[in-house]
Amino acid sequence: MSFDNILGQDRPKQILNKALRSGRVPNAYLFYGQESVGKKFTAIEVSKALNCKTMGPADSCDQCLSCLKIGKRIHPDLFILEPKKSSASAREAILKIDEIRELQKKLLYLPYEGNTKVAIINNAECMNLQAANSFLKTLEEPPTKTLIILIASNPHQLLPTVVSRCQRIQFYPLPSEAIKTIISHHLKSEPVESQPEEIELRSRRSMGQVAYALEENLLEVSEDREELIRLIGIISFKRMDQVFLWTKTKAKQTERILLILDELTRILRDVVLIKVAPETSLVTNKDLIKQLRTLALQKSTSALLTMFETVQNTKAAIKLNANSQLALENMLINFCEAA
Ligand SMILES: [Zn+2]
Repeated sequence: MSFDNILGQDRPKQILNKALRSGRVPNAYLFYGQESVGKKFTAIEVSKALNCKTMGPADSCDQCLSCLKIGKRIHPDLFILEPKKSSASAREAILKIDEIRELQKKLLYLPYEGNTKVAIINNAECMNLQAANSFLKTLEEPPTKTLIILIASNPHQLLPTVVSRCQRIQFYPLPSEAIKTIISHHLKSEPVESQPEEIELRSRRSMGQVAYALEENLLEVSEDREELIRLIGIISFKRMDQVFLWTKTKAKQTERILLILDELTRILRDVVLIKVAPETSLVTNKDLIKQLRTLALQKSTSALLTMFETVQNTKAAIKLNANSQLALENMLINFCEAA
């Protein structure tokens, strides 16, 4: 029943169902795949199944005390570890060795009131080297009656020795029907007339990721999109004034830079799609098709691909703490060269 709550992700569900039904659950799983496609949600549902008083361990009722406590994250045998930022200004969150050691201590004991302890480590790739090495010992000598679930969007950043000790399950972007169901559920309180177009737009923009679909500020997004399309259209060495003006304003919006660069990625992707295939069903920003077609006529495919690659490099550099203003300026100078 509770497994039915997981939308999309048929393959992971099938693998997990089979393991739970046969009682052959490994010591550790690695759930990997894009952010916000249901990995943590599924991990919680697995925890419920393993400890459900009425339907466990194959599935869960979502109603017994154990299921309710797990749903509220207050079950004493459920441990969820998530990386934190070391300070408000830090860009990357990390999982430190102290937190791993504390978890290891808790896992030494038998389950307190359930059948199986479940330790979920979200964004496991944020373990620093020390933490990962320490955690490796737990994977090598797994505590009894314990399931460890590592969750990672960038599994290649994990130690290979950690990965090799987990059963890997890949999660995929959610199909648009699943995304639409989730959005409709969350939009229930909104006025009905605004719903169909908004649901369609949110679903198309989400790329199968729930957080995008639900949290995006569509007003902000529409301003960004128009500004970016204009910028791509006019960029050249003759308009360096615009280059510096744009970077100066954007570099200050530290919280939003990566979102804006994602937006830029989507627009460039759309323009390339329009250039190479007249059929537009894959275009994300369908409502701006006119402006995108104009850009497609102005720019060469190779220029667009160079821009696309430059944006990806800029995102990577900013994530690694590069100076935002310099990184954005560099990006736009590359745009000018490509244009
Ligand atoms: Zn239950």
